[in-house]
Amino acid sequence: MSLITLGTMAFDAIETPFGKVDKIIGGSAIYVAYAASNFVKPVQQISIVGNDFPQEEMDELTRRGIELEGVEIVPDKKSFFWSGKYHIDMNTRDTLVTDLNVLEDFKPVVPDSYQGAEFLMLGNLMPSLQLSVIRQMKVRPKLIVMDTMNFWMDIAMDDLKLVLKEIDVLLVNDGEARQLSDEVSLVKAARKILLMGPKFLIIKKGEHGALLFHENHVFFAPALPLEEVFDPTGAGDTFAGGFMGHLAKTRDISFSNMKTAIIVGSAMASFCVEKFGPERLKEITKADIDERISEFVQLVNFDIDLV
Ligand code: AMP
Repeated sequence: MSLITLGTMAFDAIETPFGKVDKIIGGSAIYVAYAASNFVKPVQQISIVGNDFPQEEMDELTRRGIELEGVEIVPDKKSFFWSGKYHIDMNTRDTLVTDLNVLEDFKPVVPDSYQGAEFLMLGNLMPSLQLSVIRQMKVRPKLIVMDTMNFWMDIAMDDLKLVLKEIDVLLVNDGEARQLSDEVSLVKAARKILLMGPKFLIIKKGEHGALLFHENHVFFAPALPLEEVFDPTGAGDTFAGGFMGHLAKTRDISFSNMKTAIIVGSAMASFCVEKFGPERLKEITKADIDERISEFVQLVNFDIDLV
């Protein structure tokens, strides 16, 4: 069952209270692809890179069943660059630099071989580009999930609202949900956002887990309490990749299966934060993932005897 992922492939510079890297592979589509490829193949990537993006990274993606026909390589430009610095709580960060570079003229094209994909993950990217990919699909995918961020809300809110009308699931963090809805209460925010288009809304709360809203239902999944969080970059995208990977693998888009998908996404995100960039995601095996998912089951499993 194929899954299309749209997003950035980037270089990142990251500073956390535990260390600093000046140039590491990143980008929303990289994290989504690494996470999702544990569950579904092929993952069909749509993105853009410059002449500086390492061939070894492309080869590694291919080796994992990630198709790159939809990745444009621009010979005379640099890849997207993002730099961020985390605060001491690791839940909040400042974006220091966003250099769009190749993204400035990006016109994503859905290759013919990607047509017919049942699952479409619109990773964090300009909303107009997310919309253009939806419009290029000859048959509407069974499930369209969108991630976005405050950066696009600040500069492209009208376009973002157009995409919301076309999607099934929106993934945002708590701050973004508040910004999008103009509400402080997340429950009120969810109610408003669900009126903007998506049938499902996931609000990620970093180390405090994630909430899934659908009609009048709410489900909460905690984040695994980790002794050490090294670098949260990409945790949101990794969550999205695990969530989407599980849904595409099982081909079941019911609310109850989305609850499982949220646990899978949370488990994948918990690996991502253990090392800088996507390094940890490259190391883990199916056995590691299964073990981590059972830790989640233990974490939230309890009996209540009401008298
Ligand atoms: P996350 O920590 O899940 O928000 O994802 C961080 C990743 O998103 C980094 O690897 C960045 O390269 C990428 N990124 C940062 N800003 C943007 C943006 N405005 N659009 C698309 N991707 C971005």
